[in-house]
Amino acid sequence: MPDTNVLAHREAPGPVKTTDAIVIGAGISGMFMLYRLRELGLSTQVFEAGTNVGGTWYWNRYPGARFDSESWTYGYSFSKELLQEWDWKEHFSPQPDTLEYLNHVADKFDLRRDIQFRSTVTAAHWDDAANEWTVTLESGQQAKSRLLLTAIGILSAYTLPAIPGRDSFQGPAYHPARWPHTPVDFTGKRVGIIGTGATAIQAIPEIAKQAAQLTVFQRRPNWAAPLHNAKISKEEMQQIKARYDEIYAHCAQTPSWFIHEADKRKTLDVSPEEREAFWEKLYAEPGFGIWMGNFRDILIDEKANEKISAFIAGKIRQRVKDPAIAEKLIPKDHGFGARRVPLESGYFEAYNRDNVTLVDVIHDEPIECITPKGVKTTKQEREFDILIYATGFDGVTGAFDRIDIRGPNGLALKDAWADGPRTYLGMLPEGFPNMLMALGPHTARGNIPQAIEHSVNFQAGLLKFMQEHGYTRIETRPECVDEWTETVIKAAEPLLSSKVDSWQTGVNRNVEGRQVRRVLGYNGNGVHFRRKTDEVTTGGFKEFVFR
Ligand code: NAP
Repeated sequence: MPDTNVLAHREAPGPVKTTDAIVIGAGISGMFMLYRLRELGLSTQVFEAGTNVGGTWYWNRYPGARFDSESWTYGYSFSKELLQEWDWKEHFSPQPDTLEYLNHVADKFDLRRDIQFRSTVTAAHWDDAANEWTVTLESGQQAKSRLLLTAIGILSAYTLPAIPGRDSFQGPAYHPARWPHTPVDFTGKRVGIIGTGATAIQAIPEIAKQAAQLTVFQRRPNWAAPLHNAKISKEEMQQIKARYDEIYAHCAQTPSWFIHEADKRKTLDVSPEEREAFWEKLYAEPGFGIWMGNFRDILIDEKANEKISAFIAGKIRQRVKDPAIAEKLIPKDHGFGARRVPLESGYFEAYNRDNVTLVDVIHDEPIECITPKGVKTTKQEREFDILIYATGFDGVTGAFDRIDIRGPNGLALKDAWADGPRTYLGMLPEGFPNMLMALGPHTARGNIPQAIEHSVNFQAGLLKFMQEHGYTRIETRPECVDEWTETVIKAAEPLLSSKVDSWQTGVNRNVEGRQVRRVLGYNGNGVHFRRKTDEVTTGGFKEFVFR
């Protein structure tokens, strides 16, 4: 499968430049890191694989790509001016608008002058004697810095299906995370799509409108609920702008930093009628309310979860006309919310169209191989003009594994994390001096840009502290890493999501060695996380060793 042709021209190796900091990635995290590092007066080089800023929103240009977080909680909040000058057009912003927003941010703060594009980092090695990192790019170019900051995202290491013959298909084949920059025309085409995760659930209704035939190869169905997107009028945007302080303050006080917050009641404490009415209301509302604003026990109590799963299954049966197809679309191996809930716009109705076919590759037609003409199942060879591998990502640690990161004595980060990540707050890995991570494993995530802002602000505070004290080296303390790792693992224990295979539990059957579940994020309350990080800051960062 071809990568996007934008990567064809790479920088030739130049002289080794040394700066105070190197940031890997120019998505939401890397851009904000650069902004904060500049404020601290630290010279910085940012290396970005793409040709422009945006990260996730630069790469994922597939039809239907959009937020399922409210746009007006997704922007950076660090600049009031930026908040006031940007008008979101839709409650759940489509990818082109989000990319435009991030380009606007890059322009406004003149970020691009420190970003080198078309620059994939392949290695980062710590030199203990020199107290600095040497970073190597795919081109062979090298750069050095005292600080290494990773801003490589949790869902950037995309994975193709491990199906025999995958590369033999003669037509165009795309992974949504490497979607072409010129729109793909599906008119009159026979299209096959493998995968039914959040990406496919957004793309399928859009592609179905254009393609002659769309065949969806489903391994395990996912629970999904309506997004209910709508345009934002000028007046509404003015009201939102007037409330930004309140909106961000509210999000900071919720467990996942969204506007949504779990209902205090338990599922079985209310009457079936009241429950039903509450769920009808949530199902009709925009956004993640049905997942995050639901009864407080639906994600931890199996009995409660069975009830909400039955409710959502009922909705799928109502929306899909063919009862046999509806049954295939209802997950049986996990309950509602135990995997990240995709929000959809007409996903289930897509299966009512004559030009859409659902193929259940577990129970009906297992895929044997990809052929030059299409997909061969145990029953037939299905021919296509275009194939889409919407097969997901090697989540969270995958992007780290793709870089040869080595600490003192040549220890590889991949090996250090073989039995699970070891970090403090998910921000500094154990045993890798002067390395800071945005959205690293074991950190709090929830509403991603808010998580990024919080952790970058924390890290900027940490670097300022080092400057003030003349420190040039920071490392974690083993006892603090032990404590944090235990906290993270404990927080995951009661969750039904911990008992299910998904990218969130680190399982990806297309990647060797990714069959065992791991805890990859801090699933505790975001409010506790904020408190903890604030305590570390006000306590003078005693949890770290400085030199
Ligand atoms: P995903 O949720 O991991 O889904 C991948 C899909 O591909 C699954 O249905 C998987 O089946 C299937 N698959 C993988 N390998 C296969 C194979 N060899 N044969 C057949 N099927 C195969 O990935 P995603 O849809 O890209 O979404 C990942 C995450 O990105 C989401 O959970 C979300 O956090 C984020 N995302 C966010 C947005 C948004 O903000 N709106 C949009 C898109 C994605 P199994 O389930 O059986 O493994």
